Amino acid sequence: MEVVPIHNEAMISTEDCPKPDRAHRRSKVSTDVETDIELLYKAIPQISKVFRVIDKIGEGTFSSVYLGEAQMHDGSRQKFALKHLIPTSHPTRIAAELQCLTVTGGGENVIGVTYCFRKEDHVVIVMPYLEHRPIVDIISSLSFEEVRLYIYNLLKALKHIHQFGIIHRDIKPNNFLYNRKTKEYALVDFGLAQGTADTQIDLLKDLPGLRKVQRPVFGERNMNSCSQIASTTKLTSSRTELVKVTKAEDPASRGFALLKSQGANRKPQRAVPLGATCSCYHTDRVCNICLSRKQQIAPRAGTPGFRAPEVLTKCPNQGTAIDVWSAGVILLSLLSGRYPFFKASDDLIALSQIMTIRGSRETIQAAKTFGKSVVCSRELPRQDLRVLCETLRGRRPSPDDVTPLPQNNGPVSQKAHVPDETPTHRPTQEHVRPDDTPLTVTMETEDDRGWGGVPDEAYQLLDQLLDLNPTTRITAADALTHELFTDLRASAIAEKHM
Ligand code: ADP
Ligand code: MG
Ligand code: ZN
Repeated sequence: MEVVPIHNEAMISTEDCPKPDRAHRRSKVSTDVETDIELLYKAIPQISKVFRVIDKIGEGTFSSVYLGEAQMHDGSRQKFALKHLIPTSHPTRIAAELQCLTVTGGGENVIGVTYCFRKEDHVVIVMPYLEHRPIVDIISSLSFEEVRLYIYNLLKALKHIHQFGIIHRDIKPNNFLYNRKTKEYALVDFGLAQGTADTQIDLLKDLPGLRKVQRPVFGERNMNSCSQIASTTKLTSSRTELVKVTKAEDPASRGFALLKSQGANRKPQRAVPLGATCSCYHTDRVCNICLSRKQQIAPRAGTPGFRAPEVLTKCPNQGTAIDVWSAGVILLSLLSGRYPFFKASDDLIALSQIMTIRGSRETIQAAKTFGKSVVCSRELPRQDLRVLCETLRGRRPSPDDVTPLPQNNGPVSQKAHVPDETPTHRPTQEHVRPDDTPLTVTMETEDDRGWGGVPDEAYQLLDQLLDLNPTTRITAADALTHELFTDLRASAIAEKHM
């Protein structure tokens, strides 16, 4: 198994070693970013000998990502992404992230790793830079064909990492970079990855307790995207009465209520008095006995809006199917033109939003199969995915009762609506094409972008990706053989034989 060796001091590969460039010219960069760049140089001085760090391009709770430029031996300049992990990250966690990249990266739409620097507890992973725009900025102008290619390429990356027994756990557009011009794609960020039981990634086998801190719901910042920061909402305390999740099989254990109340009003956990019986089973409330029970430990990383039902209900057996669900949420988002699609500040809100789309009875039924009992205060019908997406795209008249999405602060029983923050992406009529195509035709194509003829296969695949039951949910490998992609497979095979 090859892991980029991390030496005590900074380490770089000798092949293709870029020459130092000391012209730290940063005219357009804010002073804050400049300060951060200086701190980065200070933490690992070796970096300044190789890279001119130009800008900060991403900032999350666990890392800051910078854009760096290096002069190569042939005189050309190349751009790199430099991911500086927070020094408090667990060493095994860092090594596991690196191992995922070194073993699976560099092809099949998974980002590669070029170098790794380490000095004391500072680690910087150097990757090829893929220029990209945040999905919120481009979603309204994507054609159906682009969406189809995007999902195909995401599934390709998932198939690849799943073959190695890697569960990514944080599949979302911010972690699947897309360059529209070059049609390049890159899966990034194995910072939350876990191994399947038979994983080939040694370091995923016994990860220490994972990240202590959960990823914040809206804490991640993509420096390119102001809209995402602007859409940050106050985190309201979760409504524990909304949905109740308990273990189903055994009435005695049904009280292991998994409700997590976020924020300030979280009660300290008290021991449940022996013999105390719960009084809330099959009601839409949670009694004090249940509130005081110990939380069940199950992996729950990721971003609520992209979490699969088995993650939201803390099912202890989670597999690669959770990444496939997230891909389904992305497809739903792209087909409907809404990003984010599910915007939830906690897991129960997220689960109730899933119910409004996939049906409450269906969700409850699926949860039962993995041993969880979910109670919902109102029955929500399953929605037709084509009708839903076309309505949200404004291609169908909007009946009053379509797409009720519970909000952060609204219970399921209350009629909710699509998030306010999500703009209605009406196609503009103002695009002018440089060529001489007759104006009327131009406007029609520009407006349509293929959205008038979305084939049934797209919604069939969406339905299979968003299968509430992880054991019947389509795999990434099978999804790639879906009729929606027939022509792409044919051309991929042809390419291989050329
Ligand atoms: P985190 O663990 O903090 O989420 P990521 O690895 O997801 O860190 O990187 C954060 C952001 O930095 C990404 O969403 C992306 O915008 C940018 N980024 C990361 N890697 C690259 C890369 N190789 N090329 C271009 N941008 C990148
Ligand atoms: Mg990320
Ligand atoms: Zn109870």
